[in-house]
Amino acid sequence: MTSPVWHPFTQHGLNEPIPHVVRAQGALLHLADGGTLIDAISSWWVTTHGHCHPRIAAAIAAQAEQLDQLIFAGYTHDPAETVARGLIDLAPRGEGQPELRHVFYSDSGSTAVEVALKMALGYWHNLALDGLAKARSRILVLEHSYHGDTIGAMSIGERGVYNAAWQPLLFDVGTVPFPTPVHEQACLDALDAACADKPAAFIVEPLILGAGGMLIYPAWVLREMAAICRRHGVLFIADEVMTGWGRTGTLFACEQAGVVPDIMAVAKGITGGAIPLAATLATAPIFDAHRSTDRARLFYHSSSYTANAIACAAAVANLAIWREEDVLGRTAALAQGIATRLERLAGHPAFANPRQLGTIAAIDLVAADAGYLSDLAPRLRAFFLERGILIRPLGNTIYLMPPYCLDDDQLDHIFLALAAAGDHFG
Ligand code: PLP
Repeated sequence: MTSPVWHPFTQHGLNEPIPHVVRAQGALLHLADGGTLIDAISSWWVTTHGHCHPRIAAAIAAQAEQLDQLIFAGYTHDPAETVARGLIDLAPRGEGQPELRHVFYSDSGSTAVEVALKMALGYWHNLALDGLAKARSRILVLEHSYHGDTIGAMSIGERGVYNAAWQPLLFDVGTVPFPTPVHEQACLDALDAACADKPAAFIVEPLILGAGGMLIYPAWVLREMAAICRRHGVLFIADEVMTGWGRTGTLFACEQAGVVPDIMAVAKGITGGAIPLAATLATAPIFDAHRSTDRARLFYHSSSYTANAIACAAAVANLAIWREEDVLGRTAALAQGIATRLERLAGHPAFANPRQLGTIAAIDLVAADAGYLSDLAPRLRAFFLERGILIRPLGNTIYLMPPYCLDDDQLDHIFLALAAAGDHFG
């Protein structure tokens, strides 16, 4: 019987293999046919500590028996309070910069970004009600960005074949060129010029653009971007959905630039990747602009499952792991293991542009037809599946973003397969 399931980002007409996973542990997925796959991209960048981490699994089980779900409009529970305090403790800090002090929950990276946009516009809207500023609505974005697939998140992302059908629903944004090497200043100058028109906010993926091609830019550029925004009074939003939770070598990527954003979106690894949860952190001015005795100014956003107690309990366990275990030691060792192997692979004539930030590594396959609509990425995916590896290339860019528990043998196996892909497709 054919499956009724409609998969995301999947062309069912191509009849690509859809592995059926029955169990997972650490970096390993166990298949219904008895095979295994090494999860080299942490199941879309979420399972930071590995699958079914015992501390997180136990927290979920215990919470499911105590309090599962609670309406969060005007009610609260311990796990949500604990996570919010933990996030505030761990959030980026910087001298002379405002602190992230308030936490708004949602359920995915896309919704955390939508909330960030709504907070930014709500801030200006409410200041305007008080006659303290003119309302602002324009959002500035960085070229090649990806922030999710809801309407607002798509609007602020790169436009292309993947959102062409919905262009009429997307709002207009100002696009700042990506700071490619040697052209960093052009990017900063463009941002400076665009800020002069008084946009509401500028949103960035800090240090590395993920789905846009694993494009890395330096910390000093991020620092300058934030400084330009602050100088112009434009809100600076960091989308740490992919970069958060140790992925780039620090808990949050903004730390490497000493930047504290006005608004920060986090998701994915917030629960160690076990269950959906997201949060948008905001500074006091953003919260205070919504806090009043006037019901017209409250923050009109919610979903049924906001701050689901089971998801929050998983996040409590994740925060405990971060507090009590040397997670950054683990990511540093893994990053080193990746670096030595990537350096060797870089000599392969089929590859170009090796790059790495923390435990994210990417390399481009030099191929004739590498466009988004070419069949190269699905063929590569199938090639790696046959070798027991879950990798999902972005066009001709093959990237790794493994769980931090990946061991050396698994890493060797992945890099042997990468070299074989070079031989086969190059
Ligand atoms: N923002 C960034 C930077 C992302 O990488 C992603 C997902 O990959 C999102 C937002 C959207 O997150 P989600 O898929 O959880 O909606």
